[in-house]
Amino acid sequence: MAKLFGSSGVRGLANIDLTPLLACKVAAASAMHAKAKRAVVAKDTRVSGDMIEAALVAGLMSCGTEVLLLGRVPTPVCAYATKTLGADVGFMLTASHNPPQYNGIKVFNNNALSYTDADQEAVEKIISQNQFAFADWRALGNTVTIDATQPYMDMVHKAVSLKKQWRVIVDPGCGAAFSLAPTMLKSLGCKVTALNAQPDGHFPARKSEPNAETLQDLSKTVKALGADIGIAFDGDADRVAFIDENGVFVNFDRSLAAYGAFALKRNGGGTVVTNVEASMCVETMAEKYGGKVTRTRVGDIYVSEAIERDGAVFGGEPCGAWVHPKQHLCPDGPLSAALFLSALEEVDKTVSEFVEEAPEYITMRENFVCNEAKYSIVEKLGNSLKEAFPGYTDFSTVDGVRLALKDGWLLVRASGTEPLIRLTVEGATHKAAKDITQKASALIEAQTR
Ligand code: MG
Repeated sequence: MAKLFGSSGVRGLANIDLTPLLACKVAAASAMHAKAKRAVVAKDTRVSGDMIEAALVAGLMSCGTEVLLLGRVPTPVCAYATKTLGADVGFMLTASHNPPQYNGIKVFNNNALSYTDADQEAVEKIISQNQFAFADWRALGNTVTIDATQPYMDMVHKAVSLKKQWRVIVDPGCGAAFSLAPTMLKSLGCKVTALNAQPDGHFPARKSEPNAETLQDLSKTVKALGADIGIAFDGDADRVAFIDENGVFVNFDRSLAAYGAFALKRNGGGTVVTNVEASMCVETMAEKYGGKVTRTRVGDIYVSEAIERDGAVFGGEPCGAWVHPKQHLCPDGPLSAALFLSALEEVDKTVSEFVEEAPEYITMRENFVCNEAKYSIVEKLGNSLKEAFPGYTDFSTVDGVRLALKDGWLLVRASGTEPLIRLTVEGATHKAAKDITQKASALIEAQTR
């Protein structure tokens, strides 16, 4: 059987890859794995959401599980509710930032943590061996509709109270934060203008992945209305992106590094977690405030796991998925937005001033066609790269091969979906980035030729 779970749960084209039949099986197998008496189910605004939900809920009820239906809410609301409503497992139906024809199932344990590789393997095993244990007809599960947004709002208000009336333009992109994000920001005292805040599973306004290109309308609106900040989310609002007071999209690495430094300063040191792809400005900023950085594989579950393991103060990926362990362990867009405003207020800075402190380095990327054995070639490259860069300060194989150097770093990874080996380089200067790229490229070319 092909592997069902990827780095963000089960994901695919709705009704082609992710069918109601598969959703029903994933639900029943997860209910068995979690020995679930109670489950939470939520969805984003995708057109296929109702269909996948119906099948998933049937699978849960068939195993005797009580199902709490949260409706269309962000992924972090689902994860937080799983933890606080005493559920044994939580399901978020979303394909995150993917196009509208996709859908997916993210599964959470009772601690708001995404299913780990071990959990996923256990669920897949139950499905492949058809080992379902269905309940007697007298013990079938039932459904209850629950408003989970209020407890979530209470959590946000406990963490954040703002003194200033911030002028905010918020863009949920017709996704899962369509109602919660504007409501939350208003309740914090912000003066809110909302764009694309109607739920629409076709994502007619913009692509669901927030970046400089897709957030052009938000940038223009921030500038036109003289707002303090623009805030945007991906389809399920576990990611946040910011536009500064000048209407400029804020680089993800720099906002991550600046907020990480703020968290360290407030905590008097500690650890910040990020993945192998993030800029070394995260280290630069962390070291400035007496903290250190743990690097994980790409994927928010690995960041969350490391945060829990290392007792980190903050963690995130440079796609805007930020985790605030004091509240819960799921990346949380709306909470990140509220905490970011609170941080700006505390240090009395504008968005651009806050982010400016994190240095901007030079990134270069190259792809190398590699039809076979890409993983073993990457593994072999480790030693030759170490020989070619004898002054390296750190060597990691946590995801591909990563060498930290005095004036930059390089990362060599096999693409998960294409016959490619990808080289990412960052340099303190343009020359450093170019030199590292040339040297590493020559080695990779020799292996893939
Ligand atoms: Mg997402």
